[in-house]
Amino acid sequence: MKIIVIGSGIVGASTAYHLARKGAEVIIIDKQHEGQATAAGAGIVCPWISRVDDPDFYTLAKGGACYYPKLVSQLKVDGESNLGYGLVGALAVSTDEDELNVIEQKVRERQSETPEVGEVSRLSAEEARQLFPPLREDLQAVHVTGAARVDGRLLRDALKRGAEKHGAQSYTGVASLEIKNEKVVGAYVNNEFISADFVVIAAGAWAPELLGPLGIDTPVEPQRGQIVHLHLPDQDTSKWPVILPQSSHYLVSFEDSRVVVGATRETGSGFDYRVTAAGLKDVLYEALHVAPGLSEGTLQEVRIGFRPIGKDILPYLGQIPTVKGIVIANGLGASGLTMGPYVGSLAAKLAMGEELEIDITAYNPLRNCLKVN
Ligand code: FAD
Repeated sequence: MKIIVIGSGIVGASTAYHLARKGAEVIIIDKQHEGQATAAGAGIVCPWISRVDDPDFYTLAKGGACYYPKLVSQLKVDGESNLGYGLVGALAVSTDEDELNVIEQKVRERQSETPEVGEVSRLSAEEARQLFPPLREDLQAVHVTGAARVDGRLLRDALKRGAEKHGAQSYTGVASLEIKNEKVVGAYVNNEFISADFVVIAAGAWAPELLGPLGIDTPVEPQRGQIVHLHLPDQDTSKWPVILPQSSHYLVSFEDSRVVVGATRETGSGFDYRVTAAGLKDVLYEALHVAPGLSEGTLQEVRIGFRPIGKDILPYLGQIPTVKGIVIANGLGASGLTMGPYVGSLAAKLAMGEELEIDITAYNPLRNCLKVN
């Protein structure tokens, strides 16, 4: 079975890795567009504290978080262990006890069904600062030990290398699809035609350009996120927990004395790949408001990524009835680093004609399409 995977952000890289391990002949085509979401993502893997209540969303988010340990061990067997993945835990922080009570109750409900949530406890402001020293002095916390963080770039590259070790071939360039008699027969890249039995489209926010010529007016659009990397010289940040204030902002720490703070959510941004004055101000204001101890950090880098967002909160995953041989995996929005590796494993099963362990009806890729010819 010869399968082309278009896009090698987290979704495509994971799909390719799983396909190659199953013995498929895999071709990866990726343009490496500026603003690839995976290259900018913060890397929080914590569906346990999410305020999104949709059960179909939670199925993929929980599935994603629970899948990580298995994937990490598989990659290790393939000689890939530098992923920036760590089960560092998370602190939901607030000054409002009632707010923390609601969070604690929700997390405990999830814990009763899913042991991967880990331990749940309440911390005083002082206890919280022992785990994350830059934190403001009046913030108490709900501590959840089963939260993780991952470096999206490292994981993406490890999955791609892993796929290549199992025989996958990689091309750099823009892919376009070739359809004959309502079936995909391959793709063009750099004027070369590559035949295939199946194509998985994991093209993130750029998917509409690819699917438009098939008469599919896909409703995915880019949502810009600006995110700041701070360096804290001589600080061991490797075990600091993820900090989740009661807003869309957050703080995530990595091994190399680095704290990542973000991010803007700029719906309607288009592919405008720029750091803006307002974006940078918002991100730094929110971060220093929650963790004033970061104010002496060195501003190391600002990353920009385009989250692929659909018309609703649910991803798009599945085949399309109008053209045979295509699987779409897209629209993972703000949770793609959590769900992406798992969604990639499901996309690989779909392409290979294997049975899935979950019902994917709710993720029908054509459910919000404005037009399907
Ligand atoms: P992408 O990573 O965007 O990859 C798509 C790839 O397809 C690109 O490389 C592109 O070049 C390629 N492509 C497109 N069209 C073509 C074509 N025609 N031919 C060849 N190649 C093509 N998620 C979390 O779970 N936790 C977080 O903490 C988190 N934080 C985030 C913070 C920011 C600032 C951003 C921007 C995102 C964050 N996310 C987070 C979301 C997550 O990063 C995305 O949902 C996820 O990376 C999307 O992956 P993807 O593979 O679908 O798309």
